[in-house]
Amino acid sequence: MTSDGGIKIPSRLPLLLSHEGVLLPGSTVRFSVDSPRNMQLVSQRLLRGTSLKSTIIGVIPNTRDPEHDTDDLPTLHKIGTAGIAVQVVGSNWPKPHYSLLITGLCRFRVSSLLKERPFVLAEVEQLDKLDQYTTPATEGAAAEDEELGELSKKFYQAAVQLLGMLDMSVPVVAKFRRLLDSLPRETLPDVVASMIRTSNKEKLQVLDAVSLEERFKKALPMLTKQIEGLKLLQKTRKMNPDNEKRVLSVRKGGVFPGRQFNLDGEDEEEDGDDAVALEKKVHGANMPDAALRVCLKELKRLKKMPQSMPEYALTRNYLDLMVELPWSKSTKDCLDIRAARTLLDNDHYAMDKLKRRVLEYLAVRQLKTSLKGPILCFVGPPGVGKTSVGRSIARTLGREFHRIALGGVCDQSDIRGHRRTYVGSMPGRIINGLKTVGVNNPVFLLDEVDKLGKSLQGDPAAALLEVLDPEQNHSFTDHYLNVAFDLSQVLFIATANTTATIPPALLDRMEVLQVPGYTQEERVEIAHRHLIPNQLEQHGLTPQQLHIPQETTQDIISRYTREAGVRSLERKIGAICRAVAVKVAEGHRVTKTEDLIPESPTQQGGKTLSSLSLCVIIRAGTFKHKYNQNTMANIETIKYCIQYIVKIVDQVTVLILPPAIYTSTYNGRVIREFLQMTRLIAVLKVCSVAGEKEGRQGSSQGSADSAYQTVRHSSVISQTS
Ligand code: ADP
Repeated sequence: MTSDGGIKIPSRLPLLLSHEGVLLPGSTVRFSVDSPRNMQLVSQRLLRGTSLKSTIIGVIPNTRDPEHDTDDLPTLHKIGTAGIAVQVVGSNWPKPHYSLLITGLCRFRVSSLLKERPFVLAEVEQLDKLDQYTTPATEGAAAEDEELGELSKKFYQAAVQLLGMLDMSVPVVAKFRRLLDSLPRETLPDVVASMIRTSNKEKLQVLDAVSLEERFKKALPMLTKQIEGLKLLQKTRKMNPDNEKRVLSVRKGGVFPGRQFNLDGEDEEEDGDDAVALEKKVHGANMPDAALRVCLKELKRLKKMPQSMPEYALTRNYLDLMVELPWSKSTKDCLDIRAARTLLDNDHYAMDKLKRRVLEYLAVRQLKTSLKGPILCFVGPPGVGKTSVGRSIARTLGREFHRIALGGVCDQSDIRGHRRTYVGSMPGRIINGLKTVGVNNPVFLLDEVDKLGKSLQGDPAAALLEVLDPEQNHSFTDHYLNVAFDLSQVLFIATANTTATIPPALLDRMEVLQVPGYTQEERVEIAHRHLIPNQLEQHGLTPQQLHIPQETTQDIISRYTREAGVRSLERKIGAICRAVAVKVAEGHRVTKTEDLIPESPTQQGGKTLSSLSLCVIIRAGTFKHKYNQNTMANIETIKYCIQYIVKIVDQVTVLILPPAIYTSTYNGRVIREFLQMTRLIAVLKVCSVAGEKEGRQGSSQGSADSAYQTVRHSSVISQTS
């Protein structure tokens, strides 16, 4: 690399094509590389080479490397900067790419391209002297030429002026100052242009200025512009004394743009406002004295803390919770026993004993508002309406309702909260619930108290003891809050499936009300009074679109549900509603097109199709009765039945397989044939759905079975027909 003329760069350089940054001699720039030729340059040259020479590459600015290896090279910018790759970092995310840190050495001109693939290699002519940086700070070559000397002096003075306007305590400014005195004057245009805020276009002009004089001429206006900008900014600062304390800070990156003035003052003001607002909230939260004292103390600490301290966020969250808690916010009870009875009766069928006890409880509350009565605990199988009675109680009282699921809770801090010393600490479920409802007298339903667990983290049931004891809960202390909260206004109701697993001490604090399962008749009633109307509403259907007869409900209950409650029944009705909703939605579209066609009722078995859709009800009982007779005649009847159904199958709305058909004891060919034919289309009536109006074929039918079965039915039906 050395010759008579000083240090020389290699005459053949691999070229990195860049369209983003401009590398000037004497500066260091980071380039991101992801295009094919540039990637090859890094992987085949920079990463494989072992000598210093192999780390020297040429950076051609203002030239985009084509996205594909096969694409032709664009015209290269004629002047580039030779540089040393001082760092190569590779990553595969989000796509393979390298990040190169390159320090510029000197300018070069591309004489000829030697090869284009896998990376660009060119014969180059060095334009700057490389040893210019190593010569001591003199007026050097510039001194030889008068005009140039004048220019370089002007430039130096401008640079000193700029520095005088900047804050010397910022490291990069101090470094700039040192450089200014130690570097030879002819290097200054490049170094200063790379440090001040300039656009790529301006930097390119400096790079293209091969003669030193021209370079000074190009760089000087940039420097003057920067000084003018700063002067203007300082003037505005003086005019606005509020901003006096604002600090002029310079980014470490080494650029001094106007926008880098840090308006710290504004943040401080915001913080101040924030703290004042919080203090106002603390005073307005109407909390007891003890809590207020704690809050004010925390607030004082918060004001002294810098925002960056981790504890700042903790204290802030704590104070936010304290001001949000309903210390003295409550709803007014609107208890009217007669209205409560009607509401309970309207919401729930049967459950007479439970409803009676609930009314007694409410009546006593009406007479003595400060009742420290027992905690009611509804015990019964799933789906018998325990939760929903709890919700009704809240409605009758006009109180907020909140359910706390205790199933599987095995850590007492779930109930009592974590101490604030722990990372990620938070309040327990009771305090959280109060924050959610926003009043201090809600109805809290402690669901599944029999499923509380126990672990090394303590016994949550023991924590509940304090919550549920009317003598103690007026000063319930959550570990997170660390101040007492009065829970005596909260109405607690608990539910459980069994009393066997409720800890005796907890059970002792509650009055157990057994909620037994329902009889078949009760379930049919519940379905027709509550479940079906509810489900219809939830699915956007009207009673005209889906009518489920009582026998059908009975069928569903006896064949498809086996439970003490009604949850499974509710799900099955939901499934029917969904299937019907699909049909109704499809039907609407059909109706529209049919409206255009003049009505011509198709005759089938003496009835129009639309009327058939209303009357296709093959009673489960009749059908079963027939095929239970082990005779050929009955098989024939079934075959006939099925053929009949297949004919009108478009109008059949619900197909549900009776489980009995598979377990039938028929033998021989006929039954095999029968099963084959009817495997999936053995139709038992489950429900019939009438079209909304005569002549409309949008009738539909729900299946209590899955949609999958419905699909299978229809596919077999079409095969058979
Ligand atoms: P549990 O809490 O006992 O497990 P839920 O209260 O969640 O049961 O009840 C399940 C569903 O059954 C709810 O939609 C509820 O309205 C309904 N339900 C249960 N019993 C009755 C009833 N007697 N009258 C009306 N709906 C009932």
